[in-house]
Amino acid sequence: MSNINFEVITLFPKAFELINNLGVITRAVEKNLINVNLHDLREYGEGSYRKVDDKPYGGGSGMVLKPEPIYKAHDSINKLKNSKTLLMTPQGKLLKQQDLLRWSSLDQLVIICGQYEGFDERVRFLADEEVSIGDYVLSGGEIPAISIINGLTRLLPGTLGDPGSLRDESHNSSLLEYPHYTRPLIYKDMKVPDILVSGNHEEIKSWRKQKMFERTVDRRNDLICLDSLNEDADNTSKLLLRNKLMSNSNYNQIEYYPDW
Ligand code: SAH
Repeated sequence: MSNINFEVITLFPKAFELINNLGVITRAVEKNLINVNLHDLREYGEGSYRKVDDKPYGGGSGMVLKPEPIYKAHDSINKLKNSKTLLMTPQGKLLKQQDLLRWSSLDQLVIICGQYEGFDERVRFLADEEVSIGDYVLSGGEIPAISIINGLTRLLPGTLGDPGSLRDESHNSSLLEYPHYTRPLIYKDMKVPDILVSGNHEEIKSWRKQKMFERTVDRRNDLICLDSLNEDADNTSKLLLRNKLMSNSNYNQIEYYPDW
């Protein structure tokens, strides 16, 4: 049996062909590390038109996925012991790397993809967790589901050539990863930092730690809290961070959308 069985309930199973064209993820499918079973919502639709959606009670724009087909599709899945159901919704908890890690020890992950205006509120009762992949709205839950399958699969032993690459990676801790360089040494007058070609492994290690810290402060100081800083950060860095945090005002409301 494969390590993780993904069971995806979707109106657009074709979207998942992408999974078989994604490098290391394709390898994981071939090695049977994951198994992606697609459950076409249309097959559980009602009547000869296989109706899966309807107008919202109370009026308003758009169509809403009906509860019955989703419940039927969900019931048809043979649930394994160690299984969770995730509902894709922009109203869910924001997806974090820690969630992928947490789910990677499951035997089965059932993922429900919405479409149109979303789904009937009663669908929420099927979900163990409601998940959003960001504060924006997509047209369907397929891309969020593919993101979860992709991100989780690369954490499974046997997917990546070198599991060490997961360690320093962005979002594995509260720090972003250090910058990478490869050949050539000089490209368009941009030179690889001397330290990386010095051969001094200790110094390279501490340079990388310092860079992880600096770029997190510069780009994502919301990820760090002062308490989580370890001995790698010197006092000047801590002071810099404190000032940055104090001046952080990244709240920008979108006032309007361009005219259609
Ligand atoms: N009317 C809904 C949005 C519907 S978008 C609302 O305002 O909350 C249609 C479907 O796309 C959703 O049901 C969900 O499954 C998926 N979706 C859209 N954006 C998403 C996001 N950021 N994260 C997870 N799923 C999303």
